[in-house]
Amino acid sequence: MKIAWFSIPAHGHTNPTLALVREMTGAGHEVTYFSFEQFREKIERAGAEFVPCDSCNFEMEDKEYAEKVGKDMAFATELLVKSTLALDDMVAKKVAQIKPDLIVSDSIAYWGRLTAIKYHIPYVSSTTTFAFNKYSAKYIKHGFGELFTMLFSMPKIKRLIRELQKKGYPVKGILDIVQNDNATNTIVYTSREFQPCADTFSDKYCFVGPSIRPLEGEISKTAEKLIYISMGTVIKNQELYRNCVEAFRDTEYQVIISLGANEKEPVDLPDNIQVYSSVDQMAVLSIADVFLTHCGMNSASEALYYEVPLILFPQTPEQGAVAKRVEELGAGIKLPSAQKEDVLMAAKKLFNDKQYKLAAREISKGFKRCGGAKAAREFLESLC
Ligand code: UDP
Repeated sequence: MKIAWFSIPAHGHTNPTLALVREMTGAGHEVTYFSFEQFREKIERAGAEFVPCDSCNFEMEDKEYAEKVGKDMAFATELLVKSTLALDDMVAKKVAQIKPDLIVSDSIAYWGRLTAIKYHIPYVSSTTTFAFNKYSAKYIKHGFGELFTMLFSMPKIKRLIRELQKKGYPVKGILDIVQNDNATNTIVYTSREFQPCADTFSDKYCFVGPSIRPLEGEISKTAEKLIYISMGTVIKNQELYRNCVEAFRDTEYQVIISLGANEKEPVDLPDNIQVYSSVDQMAVLSIADVFLTHCGMNSASEALYYEVPLILFPQTPEQGAVAKRVEELGAGIKLPSAQKEDVLMAAKKLFNDKQYKLAAREISKGFKRCGGAKAAREFLESLC
């Protein structure tokens, strides 16, 4: 089978797909992956042919944009539709050349879904967040209803839709491209138990569980309790990192901090705190006792897989949904503020109350019952 795969330039949307790409290419299927130079190496390592989208005047690559996309849905939609138009020529040529049997596209890489519609190719949505419909959208602070009203009323969006139509994309409105619906075959990288309102999704949804990468190396534990702190690869919050250093400075805990998009390293570090620009997150989580996270879907899932309870510090509406679900299942607590007193108190609460660990273990069991990349491959194969 020949598959054209599309994603946005984000680690959080690319990482979960790689085990499945590896599984597909390992089984003899051809995968052509449209992505961005930054991700070339890991995509090629998974056995796919890499097609760069960088040269297509693709504005989303800008770091400032990446952060805004998660916070401002109207901005994100405008940008994603513009990107579809920018990629149109290149994608058309490539699709004519490959003649894919199937298009798999990240749920917000609209150009993938639109290409499938334009060229009448079977389409599968690859959803690296929770799946959102009108029920699960209640987990997002600003519900979809409100969001759509706003999007519909934006003359700019209407203009963009007209431009898409002129280029041969038969879309009637923005709803055609932004919603998860029960008629679309969809892979979701979580379990039914962790997905909010799972029973409102049809059997076209295949919940395959989070994608867990093998550990790359070993990290040594130097104290009885290890706290891992990361705000992911996109969010900047220098203040939180500084406060964490102060909170844990005079404690017996070992602390590992991944800076991600935060370029500045906190100064005057005590011996028990190690700071890195990026870590082997699987290796750290496999020995961590608590994880202070921005609640990116991948980070939260990876930690829960390793039965690590969470201090929840979401920064976007989507991360807020992950935090709400984790709290509801009892595997973490929300951080009321970035102040050092709150950080220390939250860590102590998780250490002292075993219920959080037990709840994380239950979620982990659900993840391990999912079929993973193999189930996802069988799902894709069943469609052709
Ligand atoms: N990650 C990593 N090392 C780091 C920080 C992050 O490998 O030091 C990985 C992490 O394991 C996860 C991804 O980057 O797979 C981050 O995705 P997530 O959805 O959690 O957050 P985002 O960065 O997209 O906000």
